[in-house]
Amino acid sequence: GRLLRAGEVAATVVDTQKPLDGLWIHRVEVVGAPLRKDEVLAAEVDHEARQATRRNHSATHLLHYALRTVLGTHAAQKGSLVGPDRLRFDFTHGKAVTVEELQRIEDLVNAKVLRNAPVETRILPIDEARKLGAMAIFGDKYGDTVRVLTITPDSIELCGGTHARASGDIGLFKILSEGGIAAGVRRIEAATGFNAVAYVRGLEETVQRAAKLVKADGADLPDKVLKLTQREKELEKEIAELKRKVSMGGGGVDAMLQQVQDVAGVKVLAIRSDVADGGAMREMAEKLRDKLGEAVVVIGAAAGPKAMLVATVSKGLTDKVKAGDVIRHVAKMVGGSGGGRPDMAQAGGSDPSKLDEALAAVASVVGDLVK
Ligand SMILES: [Zn+2]
Repeated sequence: GRLLRAGEVAATVVDTQKPLDGLWIHRVEVVGAPLRKDEVLAAEVDHEARQATRRNHSATHLLHYALRTVLGTHAAQKGSLVGPDRLRFDFTHGKAVTVEELQRIEDLVNAKVLRNAPVETRILPIDEARKLGAMAIFGDKYGDTVRVLTITPDSIELCGGTHARASGDIGLFKILSEGGIAAGVRRIEAATGFNAVAYVRGLEETVQRAAKLVKADGADLPDKVLKLTQREKELEKEIAELKRKVSMGGGGVDAMLQQVQDVAGVKVLAIRSDVADGGAMREMAEKLRDKLGEAVVVIGAAAGPKAMLVATVSKGLTDKVKAGDVIRHVAKMVGGSGGGRPDMAQAGGSDPSKLDEALAAVASVVGDLVK
């Protein structure tokens, strides 16, 4: 809630505590001018937050009943925290609550909500309340007379909290999470009313966004994701296989380097690759060129009915021989053409059967160019 001074907000309540029976403490955040001693302010309840907190608080009673029904009477309340946005409920239970159990718990609570029974409170002497079988709530303090709450005949509890008028006011009850917090103690977080609707809507949006990303309908999403993960595994296998081929190609880089020829003082290397991928071929050519120092490197590969060629020349050699000139001459032999920068060029051709012949001619092509 809020504290008002002449209709203006002077402070907002951030926490409320009940350290003793009958004593309420409000912790506030001052807005604007400081509060003065003995100043009289008007208190105003934040009705929406209060309603939401009521829903959550009333739902903890139904949750307690549902836990005892589904898990057994050992599932006693160990503590709870109720705010306007969600509720937290700790209880004794030795193992994780299964998905099926959580669903049964939700169903039981929602069945009580839909029955829309009025929430009854009676002030009774504590002995009389005990005779009714009312359960005391952990952490609460009780006087000689107590408030007995009946939200469902299956569950009578002592409680001084503020409640919904009827169970239907709680609205949708949705469990958000379940987990262990200490040995033998579990925690459930849940939402009610509009917060539960907002949670479900959030899930819906997540599903829709994911479905859009993988181009599936909401219902097909799991199948589509399964297919994609299977495809990813296949591709990973394929990549691993390609990497192996690249590193093994002609017996490794060192074996490739042994095929280097000296042409009028220029190192020339022309090899065939099993990987017909322009990017990979360029990368390999640059790697080999840099390993050789100053060199001309040409790599050829067959891609189905096509031949692919990549040529690279060390920067220091480009005034003597240009990659574009090398590739033009070599590409002709595989029925193609190409070009590029002085240090990097590539070409395609329509006759991959002539690839080995073309690669074998690289040395003489370079020889003619450096003359
Ligand atoms: Zn209560």
